[in-house]
Amino acid sequence: MRRKPTAHVLWAKVSFDNDRRKAAALSLHSGLASYPKSAVKGRFDVRILIVEDEARLAANMARSFRESAGYAVDIAREGEDGLFMAESNPYDAILLDLMLPRLDGTEVLRRLRAARQHTPVLILTARDEKESIVELLNLGADDYLTKPFDLGELLARVKALIRRGKGQASPVLTIGDLEINTVDRTVRRNQRAVVLTAMEYRVLEYLAHRPRAVVSKTELLEHLYDYNWEKFSNVIEVYISGLRRKLNKDAPTALIHTYRGQGYVLEP
Ligand code: CA
Repeated sequence: MRRKPTAHVLWAKVSFDNDRRKAAALSLHSGLASYPKSAVKGRFDVRILIVEDEARLAANMARSFRESAGYAVDIAREGEDGLFMAESNPYDAILLDLMLPRLDGTEVLRRLRAARQHTPVLILTARDEKESIVELLNLGADDYLTKPFDLGELLARVKALIRRGKGQASPVLTIGDLEINTVDRTVRRNQRAVVLTAMEYRVLEYLAHRPRAVVSKTELLEHLYDYNWEKFSNVIEVYISGLRRKLNKDAPTALIHTYRGQGYVLEP
């Protein structure tokens, strides 16, 4: 017999266009037994399910998807709830941990595909887990990431999965004459290749997911460093100035604008 999901469902019900921070705080209230599907329609274009029993990791992933991509995110903390939710809601993608209470991730995937549920699934594996990636792909997984992973990479992978699911193959973010390929992580401006360091790329991609929005230094730091980010508080200026120098070479206009005391905006 299958239980209905109870205390583990988190749901963001506030539009992020209005107030991201407030929305993120509100969305962390748990305990919703159900969520009106009609309210989700129109507010969010994309809705994903995270099935993960590590509460902090699940919350970090959810926040990242809500804030950087504006997705609606549900969380299940064990396999049986996850399967129930995956079968009862029209998700655009499912992030599935393998080691889960009540029903492991492999079994959740097996049952989903047996029920002809074809929502894209990205598996989150730990290095020491025995399940072979080949077996998981054969069971119908679409992609996988090994823990610990970078939240920016997770975001890019999930976006790619959703695009493939919707039949839009292009992984390229375009802002004015800037093109960012989120799969091979290459950047071009006005057709010219721009070579960035890994950290510069992550800063740029993060800004590019929210063009024309003010992104604070703190938000960038939290994105780049999972914890202890206070220690790195003056590195952002270094990355931003490196990005400006490289992006503005031979280009007529600036792309990254500083809003003193507030943050940075990527805008053509
Ligand atoms: Ca786990």
